[in-house]
Amino acid sequence: MTDQPECSIVIPVYNEQENLPEIHRRIAALLDQLSPNSEVIFVDDGSRDCSLEMMRAIHAQDARFRYVSLARNFGHQIAVTAGLYYTTGQAVIVMDADLQDPPEVIAALLQKWREGYQIVYARRVRRKQERWLKRVLAYWFYRVIRVLAEVDIPPDTGDFCLMDRRVVDVLNAMPERNRYLRGLRAWVGFRQTDVAYDREPRFAGEVKYTFRKSFALAVNGIVSLSRAPLRLATYFGLSAAGLAMLMVVLVIYWRIYYPSATLVGYAIITAAIFFFGAVQLICLGILGEYIGRIYEEVKGRPLFTVQEVSGVLPVSHEPIRPIHSAARTV
Ligand code: UDP
Ligand code: MG
Repeated sequence: MTDQPECSIVIPVYNEQENLPEIHRRIAALLDQLSPNSEVIFVDDGSRDCSLEMMRAIHAQDARFRYVSLARNFGHQIAVTAGLYYTTGQAVIVMDADLQDPPEVIAALLQKWREGYQIVYARRVRRKQERWLKRVLAYWFYRVIRVLAEVDIPPDTGDFCLMDRRVVDVLNAMPERNRYLRGLRAWVGFRQTDVAYDREPRFAGEVKYTFRKSFALAVNGIVSLSRAPLRLATYFGLSAAGLAMLMVVLVIYWRIYYPSATLVGYAIITAAIFFFGAVQLICLGILGEYIGRIYEEVKGRPLFTVQEVSGVLPVSHEPIRPIHSAARTV
């Protein structure tokens, strides 16, 4: 056995005391078969129940199960980010603590990874026992973000996935504070594929993702992946300007053919309101475009990621900062 584990499993945990013994039992059995030299990293996201005590107990029993405990509830995405930071395995799997992501899918994920894929998404084909509203919203969210996003996010994939060490190194090096991991994961590139699975109902406990948290995550996803909403103001402005033009034409028409009509005065005022509204919105739209660019800059993402180099040293050049994720030299 080498020191470096083959596989790391990251599990964010927020008040999941009912689920931890079961997830420990199922994952331990699975790892014995699949990849004995592995580690499991529980990230306690500021749980208020006995989750942390249970993690300590599980760790004392089985040293492959490790844990990181955050000082407060930072939210799911940050918990996963923290977990990824501490992983050392060659393949890294992210899954939920509530057994909605069945551990048995791990075999299929590892299989694809061994075939040479660097990102393997677990794609939900069926969601059992989730509220219909959540299912409908999730369905539309994935379709809308697919249209708006500047990267290709595979539909019906959540955080449950496998990533190669090199992908995780790239994610760990990404500086942005708003971490919509599904977007970042799609953005890095590499060879990606998916495996289908049925999403199970929660094993025990309450859903930790309230509607508010899900909504914030959705907005976060759209804003961090797309500048389309900023452009909306420009489109509104242009349409309003068109409308104003039409009104001017109407006013002239009335003036010529019905000189006595009192409507004319109102029409001129309405047209003016529309016109100035339009000008303001267009200006806002233009401003928005620039702020969008600044936003991109401030995020300070590297311009590209390098998968492999040949004959050059993987140095990092400050303004471009390519990430040589343990680049192989051939
Ligand atoms: N979770 C977390 N911090 C939070 C909310 C949730 O670490 O603030 C964890 C939770 O313990 C679970 C996973 O994120 O392992 C997914 O949460 P949940 O099952 O409530 O959401 P779902 O995606 O199933 O709706
Ligand atoms: Mg869940």
